Amino acid sequence: MATAIYPGSFDPPTLGHLDIIRRSAAIFNELVVCVMHNGAKGQSLFTCRERAQLLESITADIPNVRIETQGGLLADYVKNYEEPVVIRGLRAVTDFEYEFQMAAINKKLNCKMETMFMVASDKYTFLSSSVVRELGKYGREMSCFVPKAVEEAVHKKLSGELCKSAPA
Ligand code: ADP
Repeated sequence: MATAIYPGSFDPPTLGHLDIIRRSAAIFNELVVCVMHNGAKGQSLFTCRERAQLLESITADIPNVRIETQGGLLADYVKNYEEPVVIRGLRAVTDFEYEFQMAAINKKLNCKMETMFMVASDKYTFLSSSVVRELGKYGREMSCFVPKAVEEAVHKKLSGELCKSAPA
């Protein structure tokens, strides 16, 4: 099969994302993981470059995965591909409404773009980047949720934050 594109914020990448990456890379010839920086989610913990570096390090053993960073609209970016297939992960019904709307809008913007949904593995259905950021704030161990390199990066990034937010 052709190239697939897996877009997201990945702030930070989790084991849930990595699971989708491995499963998609096993189906498609090439998987482009695209770190989107369109500001829709407000202030991020990691810069776009840092998120891309983390993804590069945790996918280093998957030869047909490439990491890119991209601003702007996904529907415009995928015009670089002849038959763009976009992968999105579905964890629960709560993801569905938003994803369904985005897929429909993207189809209107670019009729060549197909969105395919991959159901999250049951052990990761509860897992999100925001849960990881919250655990990181309190210096908690998170090896069940993120690869080691990501855990270290989160703790390093947030190590000064607790002191700053502690009551006087
Ligand atoms: P976005 O800001 O585009 O939602 P995310 O980084 O939060 O970016 O997620 C990227 C994609 O990965 C989305 O399709 C999301 O539903 C999916 N995803 C996030 N966490 C998981 C998980 N634990 N298991 C499977 N898919 C997930």
